[in-house]
Amino acid sequence: MVDPYDEATDDPKLIAGVEMIGRTGSVSFHISYDDRDEHVPTFWVAIAEHGTSKGPHHTLGAGFDPLSAVMKLCSALVDGGRCRYCHKPTAFDEDFTGPDFGEQLLCWYKYDETKKSFVRSCEGTTGSPESKTNDN
Ligand SMILES: [Zn+2]
Repeated sequence: MVDPYDEATDDPKLIAGVEMIGRTGSVSFHISYDDRDEHVPTFWVAIAEHGTSKGPHHTLGAGFDPLSAVMKLCSALVDGGRCRYCHKPTAFDEDFTGPDFGEQLLCWYKYDETKKSFVRSCEGTTGSPESKTNDN
């Protein structure tokens, strides 16, 4: 039997997700689980802190394994933002399916198996310094 905890923590998307949270400008990241209540499954909570002019702002993502919690937090932080490169509204693809619609309207952050990182759908199409690594 596969332990869901081991499966989730071995997944490179977990590290890529934490790195993605760091790219949103978070000043701290916290993840923990709660298994105290025998009537509900163990659940995980990931929290990011961002500094704002009004003081610290915390954002939360939760799930039944660490990867789900981190992906929910990525969604909460990325969805509804604005890409600083292409200036489109940003969206996070936490299901890793690769959206086939809305691509023109939104800047999607999708997992790149080769780079083992979440990349912008506009990457390589804008004049950002990062686009120099992409020969498209
Ligand atoms: Zn973009």
